Amino acid sequence: MQKSSNDPQSLRTRVPSVDKLLRLESVAPIMETYGRHLTTEAVRTLIKEVRAALQDEGESALECFSEGALAPVLETRLFKQTAPSLKRVFNLTGTVLHTNLGRAPLPQEAIDAMVNVAGGASNLEYDLEDGKRGDRDSHLEGLLQEITGAEAATVVNNNAAAVLLVLNTLANRKEVPVSRGELIEIGGAFRVPDIMKRAGAKLVEVGTTNRTHYDDYADAVSSKTGALMKVHTSNYMVQGFTKEVSGRELSRLSREKDLPLIEDLGSGTLTDLTAYGLPHEPTAQETLANGIDVVTFSGDKLLGGPQAGLIVGRKDLIAAIKKNPIKRATRLDKVTIAALSAVLELYRDPDRLAERVPAIRLLAKQEAEIRQIAKRIEEPLRAVLGTAFGVTIVPCLSQIGSGSLPVERLKSASISIEPLGKSKGKALNMLASAFRSLPMPVIGRIQDNTLMLDVRCLDDVDGFLGQLNGLDGRQT
Ligand SMILES: *Cc1c(COP(=O)(O)O)cnc(C)c1O
Repeated sequence: MQKSSNDPQSLRTRVPSVDKLLRLESVAPIMETYGRHLTTEAVRTLIKEVRAALQDEGESALECFSEGALAPVLETRLFKQTAPSLKRVFNLTGTVLHTNLGRAPLPQEAIDAMVNVAGGASNLEYDLEDGKRGDRDSHLEGLLQEITGAEAATVVNNNAAAVLLVLNTLANRKEVPVSRGELIEIGGAFRVPDIMKRAGAKLVEVGTTNRTHYDDYADAVSSKTGALMKVHTSNYMVQGFTKEVSGRELSRLSREKDLPLIEDLGSGTLTDLTAYGLPHEPTAQETLANGIDVVTFSGDKLLGGPQAGLIVGRKDLIAAIKKNPIKRATRLDKVTIAALSAVLELYRDPDRLAERVPAIRLLAKQEAEIRQIAKRIEEPLRAVLGTAFGVTIVPCLSQIGSGSLPVERLKSASISIEPLGKSKGKALNMLASAFRSLPMPVIGRIQDNTLMLDVRCLDDVDGFLGQLNGLDGRQT
């Protein structure tokens, strides 16, 4: 008798109906949180799974339907299912402006500005004085003129778009001489020759990889030339027997031949980074002062703002650029404009930049301060990881990232976590994976059989410590 009540056939009759489960009191709050549709789907799926499991698991498969068990099962599943794919993580990789981790963290002022315009109507393209149609660039152009000294400015979705737009406007079906030493590739398939082609311009390579002279450019100029271009080799360095033609020298040729001179600055900054103990990186101001007609650079690299491509320079050229349909196709949305204008606003007060722009603050952070952070998390980590891992503080070098200042390294401190038992590789991968599975995933760097957590960018120490319990039990 006992046996027959436990055979799959009769067990199946004990599987409750969808309706019955949805009417359970414990399911009501779940319905409230996730809605009828998703909750019903989750219950259906669970019933299906239980039916399939009856054969192998017998009566125990039905346990999840008990009043106490059902709600937690549904809650876990629905929480996971509805969690946003894009989430905050702790960037402990040691690369500050990590492209894969979203580059620059935004200043609070920028976040507030985004929130402020996000939820309602704004004067994005509306002139409040005249009551007429306005220009979305107007919210940024004045600031960019003031900060960079440019005659005019416009902004698009990112620097790659800026380069594409500028080249297409000024050199469509024309030739553009570029030094062979500056034919860069940066991550994510941005290559100067490819962008040039897509922009409709014909790249004319001049000079050699290590040496390019003024006459190389001069000889390449003809009636077919549309513009001259320099590219800041932001992610590599040519060292040794080298010669490059400066923007200032090249501007002489551009005046003589009446050709616009473009420079892609890449990371581009608006402030002298040496003030923060960082190496010098050409500013947009300096570049314009050297006689470059149009300068492009990123918003989310050293500038410390949102993803954007900034274009500053000569008024007539910017006007032509703004008329190009590619500008329309790559324009910024209101939320980004709000963020970028808030960030640019901060550049009007250079004395407080390091306090207020997180990208600069993180890059300027001193080793001693970083060690203090490491010390705060060392013991708690040791406690939670137990005897299976050795936890120590080690000096290390952070990178700036995003191809900015490629050779430079910043003195920093890491927590080094080393597996002590057998099969170290496996333990290490499991640990790294456990860190990545935390509610706010922790991304470190595996190096020489240790997991390195460079704490330069660890601002929220309490948040980090508060979720460490989640590592428990994963190691065993
Ligand atoms: C980063 C970079 C780009 C691309 O800029 P995005 O803002 O990532 O589109 C283009 N040129 C140079 C030299 C760069 O360093």
